[in-house]
Amino acid sequence: MYETVIGLEVHVELKTDGKLFCKCKNRFGDPINTNCCEICTGLPGAIPVFNEECLIPAVKTGLILNCKISEKTRFDRKNYFYPDLPKGYQISQLYEPFATDGHIDLPRSGKTIRIREVHMEDDAAKLMYENGRTVVDYNRCGVPLVEIVTMPDFRTADEVTEFMEILRKDLRAAGVTDGRLEQGSMRADINLSVRKEGEDFGTRTETKNMASFKAIAKAIEEETRRQILILEKGGQVIQQTMRFDEETLKTEVMRTKENSDDYKYFPDPDLPYITVSEEFSRKIRDMIPELPSQKERRFSEEFGLRDEDAKVICRSDDVADVFEKAAKMSGLNEATASLLLTHIASSEKLPAPEALSKTAVLMAGGKISAGMAKTLLLDVSETGEDPDEYVEKRGFVRITDDGLIADAVDKVLADGDNAKAVSDFKAGKDKVLGFLVGKVMRELKGKGDAGKVRTILLNKLVGDIDG
Ligand code: ADP
Ligand code: MG
Ligand code: ZN
Repeated sequence: MYETVIGLEVHVELKTDGKLFCKCKNRFGDPINTNCCEICTGLPGAIPVFNEECLIPAVKTGLILNCKISEKTRFDRKNYFYPDLPKGYQISQLYEPFATDGHIDLPRSGKTIRIREVHMEDDAAKLMYENGRTVVDYNRCGVPLVEIVTMPDFRTADEVTEFMEILRKDLRAAGVTDGRLEQGSMRADINLSVRKEGEDFGTRTETKNMASFKAIAKAIEEETRRQILILEKGGQVIQQTMRFDEETLKTEVMRTKENSDDYKYFPDPDLPYITVSEEFSRKIRDMIPELPSQKERRFSEEFGLRDEDAKVICRSDDVADVFEKAAKMSGLNEATASLLLTHIASSEKLPAPEALSKTAVLMAGGKISAGMAKTLLLDVSETGEDPDEYVEKRGFVRITDDGLIADAVDKVLADGDNAKAVSDFKAGKDKVLGFLVGKVMRELKGKGDAGKVRTILLNKLVGDIDG
């Protein structure tokens, strides 16, 4: 049995006004080559100057990943040639990254992933291939990035997906990034090796720039299969850089992997040390709101929500807020959650917390059915009416009276339009029961007790057959 070992390098574009070392606009989607200057296009003699605003989202990222923030940090040159890199080197951090030794918990997988470091670097230009020509857009050149490097702690694609989902949600909520994978504002490189249980780590490959969760999962599957096949044939995995082809869904070799020596890294003499005081980090920490991952966990624990429900409710701050207030008012956590989940599935307009709380009380007390509660909540969310008054004014209470329900059932069974359904039922098609229940409910204007309607209807139908 083979085990897959995965470590991630995730590039995250920071949401800032300017670029990392100049004040050109950091903006996606502008006409090409309109946001550039002599610094970000690497003209000889141009001197980069660290743009302090970039430190805010960068340090936020470090803190969200529970890292130690270094009090002193500096930049290094990573030298290589490529048309998207006009300076001939990328400004990155190899020797003294600004954040180290973090971790992130994965509640679904029940694991903790260690974060080796987070460092800052500038993005390269974007290359676009059009009609056999390559167009270079320097707008992206110099855009601030953080690169998050994990330890090789993942064992499955599912763990990687959970990590990426949490990372994306939390970083977006903290205003660090847009987190748009499809626009490249978050890009994951997958380092992957396989080994037999109990053996040392195998040789890894790196699959670059995965731009969707689906592609990530598929690439992991493919690369695992490819490596196992090599080993099974008695071969050796070579340390290579791979590309994932979204069309063939296969990983293919891009280049044989370089290691850090090949880049002749050295401290960038243009850029002095940056000091990140403890006080600064503390201020940044105070700017970070309760993160979606924290809120989900709190809602699961404090209100006993199912993980899946907590996730949906925490997807939007407004929804989470309405839930929390309403649940605290009524003390009916489960009813509040189920009402709200049903509601947001069909309406954009949120109920006021008071309205949700009162509706939950009416429903849990048996005064109105779940179906009625749904209708009521939709109405009062639109009109702002008080749920108690709504019920009062319209006599909107659940019909539990057997006689009234039996009358409605008789009416439905006598209706010629339903004759086919009735005979189908008698011929053994149980499925039409739901249809007939619906008819009776309509007859009762949605206020019938669903359980009773079903029982009475069934008794009459079966009674007919017996007779
Ligand atoms: P490099 O210096 O070549 O970038 P690193 O040691 O920085 O290599 O590791 C880069 C990434 O590769 C990290 O995310 C790390 O967790 C992962 N990694 C390292 N060794 C392995 C391995 N044997 N299998 C899978 N991933 C690995
Ligand atoms: Mg690396
Ligand atoms: Zn510039």
